[in-house]
Amino acid sequence: VSIKIITEPSVYLLGKQVLVQDELTRFLEDHEFENWSTDSPSDSETLCEVAARTCYQSFKGGRNHADHLRHLLEVKHGSCVEHAVWNLLVTGVSRSLTHELIRHRAGTGYSQLSQRYVDESVAEYVCPDIIAEDPELHEIWLESLNQSHAAYVKLANKLNEKLIKKYRMQYLKSGAHGIMAIGNLDDLQPSGETKTAIRKEARQAARSVLPNATETKIFVTLNARAARHFVEQRGSKHAEPEIRKLANAILDVLAKDAPNLFGDYERIPLPDGTYEINTKYPKV
Ligand SMILES: Cc1cc2nc3c(=O)[nH]c(=O)nc-3n(C[C@H](O)[C@H](O)[C@H](O)COP(=O)(O)OP(=O)(O)OC[C@H]3O[C@@H](n4cnc5c(N)ncnc54)[C@H](O)[C@@H]3O)c2cc1C
Repeated sequence: VSIKIITEPSVYLLGKQVLVQDELTRFLEDHEFENWSTDSPSDSETLCEVAARTCYQSFKGGRNHADHLRHLLEVKHGSCVEHAVWNLLVTGVSRSLTHELIRHRAGTGYSQLSQRYVDESVAEYVCPDIIAEDPELHEIWLESLNQSHAAYVKLANKLNEKLIKKYRMQYLKSGAHGIMAIGNLDDLQPSGETKTAIRKEARQAARSVLPNATETKIFVTLNARAARHFVEQRGSKHAEPEIRKLANAILDVLAKDAPNLFGDYERIPLPDGTYEINTKYPKV
Protein backbone atom coordinates (compact mmCIF):
# COMPACT_ATOMS: atom_id res chain seq x y z
CA VAL A 1 0.00 0.00 0.00
CA SER A 2 1.31 3.45 -0.78
CA ILE A 3 0.81 5.67 2.23
CA LYS A 4 0.01 9.32 1.70
CA ILE A 5 1.67 11.51 4.28
CA ILE A 6 0.25 14.88 5.26
CA THR A 7 2.03 17.50 7.37
CA GLU A 8 -0.15 20.62 6.94
CA PRO A 9 -3.84 21.12 7.76
CA SER A 10 -6.20 22.68 5.20
CA VAL A 11 -9.01 25.03 6.17
CA TYR A 12 -11.85 25.78 3.73
CA LEU A 13 -14.14 28.68 4.61
CA LEU A 14 -17.54 27.38 3.47
CA GLY A 15 -19.86 29.76 5.23
CA LYS A 16 -20.03 33.19 6.80
CA GLN A 17 -22.81 35.52 7.69
CA VAL A 18 -24.80 37.81 5.46
CA LEU A 19 -26.36 40.93 6.89
CA VAL A 20 -29.95 41.55 5.79
CA GLN A 21 -29.40 45.22 4.99
CA ASP A 22 -33.09 46.01 4.30
CA GLU A 23 -34.03 44.82 7.76
CA LEU A 24 -31.25 46.81 9.41
CA THR A 25 -32.42 49.89 7.51
CA ARG A 26 -36.03 49.22 8.61
CA PHE A 27 -34.92 48.94 12.25
CA LEU A 28 -32.87 52.17 12.01
CA GLU A 29 -35.76 54.05 10.38
CA ASP A 30 -38.35 52.71 12.87
CA HIS A 31 -36.19 54.00 15.71
CA GLU A 32 -35.07 57.33 14.21
CA PHE A 33 -31.48 56.18 13.82
CA GLU A 34 -31.41 56.57 10.03
CA ASN A 35 -28.26 58.69 10.16
CA TRP A 36 -26.24 55.81 11.59
CA SER A 37 -23.84 53.98 9.31
CA THR A 38 -20.71 51.95 9.78
CA ASP A 39 -17.40 51.48 7.98
CA SER A 40 -17.29 47.82 9.03
CA PRO A 41 -15.32 45.66 6.56
CA SER A 42 -17.67 42.65 6.72
CA ASP A 43 -21.18 41.54 7.60
CA SER A 44 -19.76 39.39 10.41
CA GLU A 45 -18.33 42.48 12.08
CA THR A 46 -21.37 44.64 11.36
CA LEU A 47 -23.59 42.14 13.19
CA CYS A 48 -21.33 42.30 16.27
CA GLU A 49 -21.30 46.09 16.19
CA VAL A 50 -25.08 46.31 15.86
CA ALA A 51 -25.45 43.82 18.73
CA ALA A 52 -23.22 45.96 20.95
CA ARG A 53 -24.98 49.19 19.98
CA THR A 54 -28.31 47.51 20.74
CA CYS A 55 -27.19 47.18 24.37
CA TYR A 56 -26.91 50.95 24.79
CA GLN A 57 -29.10 52.12 21.85
CA SER A 58 -26.01 54.05 20.77
CA PHE A 59 -26.78 54.51 17.11
CA LYS A 60 -26.26 58.27 17.16
CA GLY A 61 -22.50 58.54 17.20
CA GLY A 62 -19.73 57.49 19.54
CA ARG A 63 -16.76 55.35 18.53
CA ASN A 64 -16.03 54.36 14.95
CA HIS A 65 -16.37 50.72 13.99
CA ALA A 66 -12.77 49.57 14.62
CA ASP A 67 -12.57 51.37 17.98
CA HIS A 68 -15.96 50.00 18.95
CA LEU A 69 -14.91 46.41 18.34
CA ARG A 70 -11.57 46.92 20.08
CA HIS A 71 -13.45 48.31 23.08
CA LEU A 72 -15.62 45.17 23.22
CA LEU A 73 -12.47 43.03 23.42
CA GLU A 74 -10.90 45.33 26.04
CA VAL A 75 -13.87 45.27 28.39
CA LYS A 76 -14.69 41.60 27.61
CA HIS A 77 -18.19 42.32 26.35
CA GLY A 78 -18.04 38.74 25.08
CA SER A 79 -21.65 38.03 24.16
CA CYS A 80 -21.48 40.68 21.41
CA VAL A 81 -18.82 38.76 19.54
CA GLU A 82 -20.85 35.56 19.60
CA HIS A 83 -22.98 36.94 16.75
CA ALA A 84 -20.29 36.37 14.10
CA VAL A 85 -20.29 32.72 13.00
CA TRP A 86 -18.23 30.81 10.43
CA ASN A 87 -18.45 27.35 8.86
CA LEU A 88 -15.10 25.72 8.18
CA LEU A 89 -14.20 22.41 6.61
CA VAL A 90 -10.92 21.20 8.07
CA THR A 91 -8.98 18.40 6.35
CA GLY A 92 -5.50 16.93 6.60
CA VAL A 93 -5.60 16.63 10.38
CA SER A 94 -5.06 13.61 12.61
CA ARG A 95 -7.58 11.88 14.83
CA SER A 96 -5.46 12.96 17.80
CA LEU A 97 -5.92 16.59 16.75
CA THR A 98 -9.69 16.29 16.42
CA HIS A 99 -9.87 14.60 19.80
CA GLU A 100 -8.41 17.82 21.25
CA LEU A 101 -10.40 20.12 18.96
CA ILE A 102 -13.80 18.78 19.97
CA ARG A 103 -13.02 19.48 23.63
CA HIS A 104 -13.92 23.07 22.70
CA ARG A 105 -17.64 22.94 23.39
CA ALA A 106 -19.18 26.36 23.99
CA GLY A 107 -20.15 28.13 20.74
CA THR A 108 -19.04 25.30 18.45
CA GLY A 109 -20.58 22.54 16.30
CA TYR A 110 -18.84 19.57 14.72
CA SER A 111 -19.51 16.91 12.06
CA GLN A 112 -16.67 14.47 11.53
CA LEU A 113 -15.87 11.76 9.00
CA SER A 114 -17.25 8.46 10.28
CA GLN A 115 -14.80 5.58 10.50
CA ARG A 116 -17.80 3.25 10.77
CA TYR A 117 -19.12 4.22 7.33
CA VAL A 118 -16.00 5.28 5.45
CA ASP A 119 -13.39 2.79 4.32
CA GLU A 120 -10.05 3.73 5.89
CA SER A 121 -7.94 1.61 3.54
CA VAL A 122 -7.14 4.81 1.57
CA ALA A 123 -4.12 5.17 3.87
CA GLU A 124 -3.65 8.87 4.58
CA TYR A 125 -1.77 9.76 7.72
CA VAL A 126 -0.57 12.94 9.41
CA CYS A 127 3.08 12.89 10.37
CA PRO A 128 4.34 15.07 13.24
CA ASP A 129 7.07 17.44 11.97
CA ILE A 130 9.62 16.22 14.49
CA ILE A 131 9.31 12.72 13.00
CA ALA A 132 8.98 13.85 9.35
CA GLU A 133 12.27 15.74 9.47
CA ASP A 134 14.32 12.81 10.85
CA PRO A 135 14.88 9.91 8.39
CA GLU A 136 15.43 7.30 11.11
CA LEU A 137 12.32 8.26 13.09
CA HIS A 138 10.35 8.54 9.88
CA GLU A 139 11.26 4.99 8.91
CA ILE A 140 10.15 3.62 12.29
CA TRP A 141 6.91 5.60 11.99
CA LEU A 142 6.24 4.30 8.46
CA GLU A 143 6.97 0.72 9.47
CA SER A 144 4.48 0.91 12.30
CA LEU A 145 1.85 2.51 10.04
CA ASN A 146 2.32 -0.13 7.37
CA GLN A 147 1.71 -2.81 10.00
CA SER A 148 -1.38 -1.23 11.48
CA HIS A 149 -2.70 -0.40 8.03
CA ALA A 150 -2.24 -3.98 6.83
CA ALA A 151 -3.95 -5.22 10.00
CA TYR A 152 -6.89 -2.87 9.37
CA VAL A 153 -7.38 -4.06 5.79
CA LYS A 154 -7.06 -7.73 6.81
CA LEU A 155 -9.43 -7.37 9.74
CA ALA A 156 -11.99 -5.44 7.69
CA ASN A 157 -11.95 -8.11 4.96
CA LYS A 158 -12.11 -11.04 7.37
CA LEU A 159 -14.86 -9.44 9.43
CA ASN A 160 -16.79 -8.78 6.25
CA GLU A 161 -16.46 -12.44 5.24
CA LYS A 162 -17.47 -13.62 8.72
CA LEU A 163 -20.55 -11.39 8.74
CA ILE A 164 -21.59 -12.49 5.25
CA LYS A 165 -21.37 -16.14 6.39
CA LYS A 166 -23.52 -15.28 9.39
CA TYR A 167 -26.01 -13.55 7.09
CA ARG A 168 -26.17 -16.65 4.85
CA MET A 169 -26.82 -18.92 7.84
CA GLN A 170 -29.56 -16.60 9.11
CA TYR A 171 -31.08 -16.52 5.65
CA LEU A 172 -31.07 -20.31 5.56
CA LYS A 173 -32.60 -20.61 9.05
CA SER A 174 -35.23 -17.95 8.40
CA GLY A 175 -36.77 -19.95 5.55
CA ALA A 176 -36.94 -16.71 3.53
CA HIS A 177 -36.02 -18.74 0.44
CA GLY A 178 -39.42 -20.51 0.67
CA ILE A 179 -39.72 -23.46 -1.60
CA MET A 180 -37.20 -22.08 -4.12
CA ALA A 181 -34.00 -24.01 -4.64
CA ILE A 182 -31.12 -22.24 -2.87
CA GLY A 183 -28.38 -23.45 -5.17
CA ASN A 184 -24.87 -22.55 -4.08
CA LEU A 185 -25.18 -20.64 -0.80
CA ASP A 186 -21.78 -19.00 -1.40
CA ASP A 187 -23.36 -17.06 -4.27
CA LEU A 188 -25.83 -15.41 -1.93
CA GLN A 189 -24.63 -11.80 -1.45
CA PRO A 190 -26.25 -9.26 0.87
CA SER A 191 -27.55 -6.17 -0.85
CA GLY A 192 -28.96 -2.75 0.02
CA GLU A 193 -29.23 -1.93 3.71
CA THR A 194 -27.92 -5.35 4.78
CA LYS A 195 -24.73 -4.88 2.76
CA THR A 196 -24.22 -1.40 4.27
CA ALA A 197 -24.90 -2.71 7.80
CA ILE A 198 -22.35 -5.52 7.36
CA ARG A 199 -19.67 -3.14 6.08
CA LYS A 200 -20.36 -0.79 8.98
CA GLU A 201 -20.07 -3.60 11.51
CA ALA A 202 -16.80 -4.78 9.94
CA ARG A 203 -15.25 -1.29 9.74
CA GLN A 204 -16.28 -0.24 13.23
CA ALA A 205 -14.43 -3.24 14.72
CA ALA A 206 -11.44 -3.09 12.34
CA ARG A 207 -10.84 0.61 13.06
CA SER A 208 -9.74 -0.29 16.58
CA VAL A 209 -6.23 -0.89 15.17
CA LEU A 210 -6.02 2.45 13.35
CA PRO A 211 -3.47 4.85 14.82
CA ASN A 212 -3.96 8.40 16.12
CA ALA A 213 -2.12 9.60 12.99
CA THR A 214 -5.04 8.59 10.74
CA GLU A 215 -6.13 11.57 8.63
CA THR A 216 -9.66 12.84 9.19
CA LYS A 217 -11.98 15.58 8.00
CA ILE A 218 -14.18 17.67 10.25
CA PHE A 219 -16.79 20.34 9.59
CA VAL A 220 -16.52 23.01 12.26
CA THR A 221 -18.94 25.82 12.99
CA LEU A 222 -17.85 28.37 15.55
CA ASN A 223 -18.56 31.89 16.65
CA ALA A 224 -15.96 34.61 17.13
CA ARG A 225 -15.86 34.23 20.90
CA ALA A 226 -15.30 30.47 20.68
CA ALA A 227 -12.80 30.94 17.86
CA ARG A 228 -10.79 33.42 19.95
CA HIS A 229 -10.70 31.03 22.88
CA PHE A 230 -9.61 28.17 20.62
CA VAL A 231 -6.91 30.26 18.92
CA GLU A 232 -5.52 31.37 22.31
CA GLN A 233 -5.51 27.95 23.95
CA ARG A 234 -4.25 26.03 20.94
CA GLY A 235 -1.95 28.76 19.62
CA SER A 236 -0.14 28.72 22.95
CA LYS A 237 3.44 27.45 23.09
CA HIS A 238 2.17 24.77 25.49
CA ALA A 239 -0.20 23.32 22.89
CA GLU A 240 0.66 20.44 20.58
CA PRO A 241 2.37 21.65 17.34
CA GLU A 242 -0.18 20.13 14.94
CA ILE A 243 -3.13 21.88 16.59
CA ARG A 244 -1.04 25.07 16.90
CA LYS A 245 -0.66 25.01 13.10
CA LEU A 246 -4.44 24.61 12.79
CA ALA A 247 -5.01 27.51 15.22
CA ASN A 248 -2.78 29.68 13.00
CA ALA A 249 -4.55 28.52 9.81
CA ILE A 250 -8.00 29.25 11.30
CA LEU A 251 -6.78 32.65 12.51
CA ASP A 252 -5.58 33.45 8.95
CA VAL A 253 -9.02 32.68 7.51
CA LEU A 254 -11.09 34.46 10.16
CA ALA A 255 -8.86 37.55 10.39
CA LYS A 256 -9.39 38.09 6.65
CA ASP A 257 -13.17 38.24 7.12
CA ALA A 258 -13.10 40.02 10.47
CA PRO A 259 -9.83 41.95 10.89
CA ASN A 260 -11.15 43.89 13.90
CA LEU A 261 -12.33 40.78 15.74
CA PHE A 262 -8.93 39.11 15.39
CA GLY A 263 -6.55 42.01 14.72
CA ASP A 264 -5.18 42.10 18.27
CA TYR A 265 -3.29 38.82 17.86
CA GLU A 266 0.48 38.77 17.61
CA ARG A 267 2.42 35.80 16.31
CA ILE A 268 5.77 34.90 17.75
CA PRO A 269 7.95 32.38 15.91
CA LEU A 270 8.80 29.27 17.92
CA PRO A 271 11.91 27.09 17.47
CA ASP A 272 9.80 24.29 15.91
CA GLY A 273 8.79 26.53 12.99
CA THR A 274 5.25 27.15 14.25
CA TYR A 275 3.93 30.41 15.72
CA GLU A 276 2.70 31.20 19.18
CA ILE A 277 -0.44 33.37 19.21
CA ASN A 278 -0.67 36.08 21.87
CA THR A 279 -3.04 38.88 22.74
CA LYS A 280 -3.51 41.65 25.29
CA TYR A 281 -7.19 40.70 25.46
CA PRO A 282 -7.38 37.00 26.39
CA LYS A 283 -10.63 35.09 26.97
CA VAL A 284 -13.14 37.74 26.01
C1 LIG B 1 -2.12 22.76 26.55
C2 LIG B 1 -3.36 21.99 26.85
C3 LIG B 1 -3.27 20.76 27.48
C4 LIG B 1 -4.43 20.02 27.77
N1 LIG B 1 -4.31 18.78 28.36
C5 LIG B 1 -5.41 18.07 28.65
C6 LIG B 1 -5.34 16.79 29.25
O1 LIG B 1 -4.26 16.28 29.52
N2 LIG B 1 -6.48 16.12 29.53
C7 LIG B 1 -7.71 16.65 29.26
O2 LIG B 1 -8.72 16.02 29.55
N3 LIG B 1 -7.82 17.85 28.67
C8 LIG B 1 -6.72 18.58 28.36
N4 LIG B 1 -6.85 19.80 27.76
C9 LIG B 1 -8.19 20.25 27.36
C10 LIG B 1 -8.76 21.32 28.32
O3 LIG B 1 -8.93 20.80 29.61
C11 LIG B 1 -10.11 21.84 27.79
O4 LIG B 1 -11.06 20.80 27.82
C12 LIG B 1 -10.04 22.32 26.36
O5 LIG B 1 -8.90 23.12 26.16
C13 LIG B 1 -11.28 23.14 26.01
O6 LIG B 1 -11.24 24.32 26.77
P1 LIG B 1 -12.50 24.93 27.48
O7 LIG B 1 -13.18 23.90 28.28
O8 LIG B 1 -12.07 26.19 28.16
O9 LIG B 1 -13.30 25.37 26.16
P2 LIG B 1 -14.83 25.47 25.79
O10 LIG B 1 -15.48 24.19 26.00
O11 LIG B 1 -14.84 26.00 24.43
O12 LIG B 1 -15.42 26.52 26.78
C14 LIG B 1 -15.14 27.91 26.68
C15 LIG B 1 -15.33 28.48 28.05
O13 LIG B 1 -16.71 28.40 28.41
C16 LIG B 1 -16.82 28.11 29.78
N5 LIG B 1 -17.43 26.78 29.93
C17 LIG B 1 -17.65 25.86 28.96
N6 LIG B 1 -18.26 24.77 29.44
C18 LIG B 1 -18.43 25.00 30.76
C19 LIG B 1 -18.97 24.23 31.81
N7 LIG B 1 -19.47 23.01 31.61
N8 LIG B 1 -18.97 24.75 33.04
C20 LIG B 1 -18.49 25.99 33.27
N9 LIG B 1 -17.93 26.77 32.32
C21 LIG B 1 -17.90 26.28 31.08
C22 LIG B 1 -15.41 28.10 30.35
O14 LIG B 1 -15.10 29.40 30.79
C23 LIG B 1 -14.57 27.74 29.14
O15 LIG B 1 -13.22 28.15 29.22
C24 LIG B 1 -5.71 20.54 27.46
C25 LIG B 1 -5.79 21.79 26.83
C26 LIG B 1 -4.65 22.52 26.54
C27 LIG B 1 -4.77 23.85 25.84
